[in-house]
Amino acid sequence: MPMQLEGSCRCGAVKFSLASHTPYPYQLCYCSICRKTAGGGGYAINIMGDAATLKVRGKRALRVYRAELEENGRCTTSSGQRHFCSKCASALWLFDENWPDLVHPFASAIDTDLPVPSERVHLMLRYKASWVVPRIGKKDRSFDEYPEESIEHWHKTRGLWVK
Ligand SMILES: [Zn+2]
Repeated sequence: MPMQLEGSCRCGAVKFSLASHTPYPYQLCYCSICRKTAGGGGYAINIMGDAATLKVRGKRALRVYRAELEENGRCTTSSGQRHFCSKCASALWLFDENWPDLVHPFASAIDTDLPVPSERVHLMLRYKASWVVPRIGKKDRSFDEYPEESIEHWHKTRGLWVK
């Protein structure tokens, strides 16, 4: 059985739940979008779940933020749909139509006790704020941009995939 996760925004207008095979909050993203919208400590943590199992109460308070990106001098809009609460501004989850089976909740919005990872991945470090000093543990891995290893693969190869 996948792990059942319950989440909510700070004010309680939005509550959600989903099933996850990959509940370890091991991936710390230092990109400017994550850290500004959901990462006061300099990074945000996304976990991953099955989009088909996502249940939402309080949909009327939901809003979607799609970040604008500058790539090679061109402005594009991110396909990532960052859902947040319009009443209290809590960042809740990211959904991307390119990966319709997946939903990526921010660990910060999850109320269920998540398992504690014994190692972490630090990514998008080239975009981190200058004052942020990442605490890189002995077993941790660091990347200037995205790691190649998927969240699914990371869990499976470490025996942490929740069947
Ligand atoms: Zn709220």
